[in-house]
Amino acid sequence: MFEVLAEIVSNERLTHDTCLMALRSEKLAQTAKPGQFVMIRISLGLDPLLRRPFSICAVKENLLLVLYRVVGKGTNLMRELRQGEKLQVLGPLGKALTCRKKTSGDFWLEEESASRLSCFSTSFTGRR
Ligand SMILES: Cc1cc2nc3c(=O)[nH]c(=O)nc-3n(C[C@H](O)[C@H](O)[C@H](O)COP(=O)(O)OP(=O)(O)OC[C@H]3O[C@@H](n4cnc5c(N)ncnc54)[C@H](O)[C@@H]3O)c2cc1C
Repeated sequence: MFEVLAEIVSNERLTHDTCLMALRSEKLAQTAKPGQFVMIRISLGLDPLLRRPFSICAVKENLLLVLYRVVGKGTNLMRELRQGEKLQVLGPLGKALTCRKKTSGDFWLEEESASRLSCFSTSFTGRR
């Protein structure tokens, strides 16, 4: 785990309350694994003071993608950030999901990872 100053490459609004942010950090992109998250300091000032956690949605070359829903102060500020601005990002954090390769070439998640993913998706969709 380490902290980097990552440049915002894009911050696209997908729906009225959902955005996709691409952050450039070769170091994070090279070390992040599926299922991990980062802590983003949205403002360099004192408000909001605490970093906000976001799952790593995807990694593409030296970019880290974060898909986020606007729910409060921090994510409202985050939505207004523009390309070229920089954010302090701490990570990668959390236990990575583990998967094994089948002989056919497909992958499957190990049982413990699959149950974590299922909890995660139900918490996002609100269904059980
Ligand atoms: C490990 C982890 C991974 C996560 N990954 C993602 C992700 O990939 N994408 C994503 O969108 N989110 C993710 N989250 C959730 C995300 O961290 C939060 O949505 C984010 O921190 C909210 O920050 P905020 O400043 O916008 O909201 P806050 O201002 O902190 O508000 C959070 C919630 O509390 C409510 N609230 C705030 N103040 C009050 C008050 N005074 N009274 C009552 N209610 C109040 C808000 O309405 C909102 O619903 C993740 C969380 C964790 C723990």
